[in-house]
Amino acid sequence: MADYDYDLFVIGAGSGGVRASRVSAAYGARVAVAEEYRVGGTCVIRGCVPKKLLVYGAHFAEDLKDARRFGWNVPDCSFDWATLRDNVLADVDRLNGLYTQGLDNAGAEIILERATVTGPHEVALASGKKITAKYILIATGAHPHIPEFPGNEHGITSNEVFHLDKLPRRILIAGGGYIANEFAGIFNEFGSHVTVVNRTDVILRGYDHSVRDRLLQISLTKGIDFRFHAEFERIEKLENGCLKVFLAGQDPMEVDVVLFATGRVPNSTGLGLEDVGVEIDAKGAVKVDAQNRSTIDSIYAVGDVTNRIQLTPIAIREGQAFADTIFGNNPRTVDYSCVPSAVFSHPPIASVGMTEGEARNKLGSVKVYASDFRAMKNVLANRNERALYKMVCDGMTGRVVGIHMIGPDAPEILQAAAVAVKAGLTKEAFDDTVALHPSMAEELVLLK
Ligand code: NDP
Repeated sequence: MADYDYDLFVIGAGSGGVRASRVSAAYGARVAVAEEYRVGGTCVIRGCVPKKLLVYGAHFAEDLKDARRFGWNVPDCSFDWATLRDNVLADVDRLNGLYTQGLDNAGAEIILERATVTGPHEVALASGKKITAKYILIATGAHPHIPEFPGNEHGITSNEVFHLDKLPRRILIAGGGYIANEFAGIFNEFGSHVTVVNRTDVILRGYDHSVRDRLLQISLTKGIDFRFHAEFERIEKLENGCLKVFLAGQDPMEVDVVLFATGRVPNSTGLGLEDVGVEIDAKGAVKVDAQNRSTIDSIYAVGDVTNRIQLTPIAIREGQAFADTIFGNNPRTVDYSCVPSAVFSHPPIASVGMTEGEARNKLGSVKVYASDFRAMKNVLANRNERALYKMVCDGMTGRVVGIHMIGPDAPEILQAAAVAVKAGLTKEAFDDTVALHPSMAEELVLLK
């Protein structure tokens, strides 16, 4: 491998790129990783991590209110966006430091510059320097999609939302997916008036219809406004700084911030990939095989840029599998079945396996068990918010093929239950397990 400057050159220091770099270096490879923004990538810098901290911050609105029913004398509290924002951003800085240190400790060289591919074994840095490597790994992630219409430049995306100068009094969120529902919950708890605008009447496409319907119902009760089948005509910026949003067939709406949460597009353009023969699909994703290899033998790709499942733990697994396969003499592929996922809405949703609809299409015979209950804490708090747990089973074998939950701490509970679903356990195995009482999770072993 000594003919090349490096054994591995990674473009992008996000979840997938960092894992691949660290593990490859630990196997003894000479690794360089280029990053044009900040080490850590979307998840750490402007995604999962700061978002989850905002979710925690937002939930205090309910906790402080409920605390009074539990005997606490809570004075009227007010929320200060700048304090939370700055504390969250400071934590992002801390994690950015830890990720950088992790790469340093592993012996991977960090190059804080944009890199593009100029040959099957060659990259060029923004400074003009050319570098050769036996393997090149594309781990450049994805960026927010912004719908095309006049005035769209007045909106922001999840990249900017963590840095807002002040809390918007009124926010319009475009989209009905993960980011839209998570930020609708966050801003609603902070006291902003939230309007979610989606092009269809389906929120969280891909999730089980029962939990989606429950979230919509709870969100409406909490005061979040939804506009479905809505099409943007234009946005005008007014002299007072407010935004006037024109939707087809509706009265114009005045808001302070428009947040686009309309999907994410792989970062594959402007990297020189097609010039060297790396094929890109119609959605902009780098085409790869099960070993993460592109259509050029020496160039691989992992994470959101391949648009398989846009989730951090998947990018990490792909990065690990790449390093194990190429430098660890341990060929591995990622198993994409039964991947648990969660929406950190208020309340959160968590899900693993087939939805009821998918199971009915695929299996024919299906048995569904559900528990529709009010968490004990919500009962005492007088909070009329019901949780829903749903288990989808193969009608012939009793095997649990999917679990779908909405309610407090659903993601924390589902992670453990996902092990059972992945292991192919049956409903009987759940029934055989003694309930842990009193808990919300016990509903999973008491389903009728
Ligand atoms: P999603 O794919 O979740 O949702 C996109 C939404 O935008 C859908 O409601 C979709 O409508 C709508 N939409 C798509 N294209 C257009 C368009 N051209 N014009 C108008 N509306 C459009 O995307 P997000 O942006 O919310 O999140 C991106 C990805 O990031 C997620 O898919 C997920 O993989 C990841 N993510 C994961 C999180 C988690 O794990 N908790 C949190 C945040 C993001 P329709 O469905 O009707 O087509």
